[in-house]
Amino acid sequence: MPMMPNNEDCEVWDAAQAQEWRLVRVEDALLLGREVRKRCPECHGRVRAHKLANNGMRAHIEHVAKHSGCSRGSNFSGRPSIHPLAVG
Ligand SMILES: [Zn+2]
Repeated sequence: MPMMPNNEDCEVWDAAQAQEWRLVRVEDALLLGREVRKRCPECHGRVRAHKLANNGMRAHIEHVAKHSGCSRGSNFSGRPSIHPLAVG
């Protein structure tokens, strides 16, 4: 079990071309802007992308609604499950 969750990528909705979710690095998700839909690759919950912070925290994704069934979240229960508000 990794100590640090891997929060360096996320899925973005490609509305312009393929009409499907694409896995991208969080830095690339940030370049696409706020209006592009983003979700967690693991639980499919909606996420927000954060750029590198002044305090040195790396660019990362954060679940809009916390979910204990996701190892990328801050409150993982140890039992993975799909987010109750999953976006498909
Ligand atoms: Zn998740």
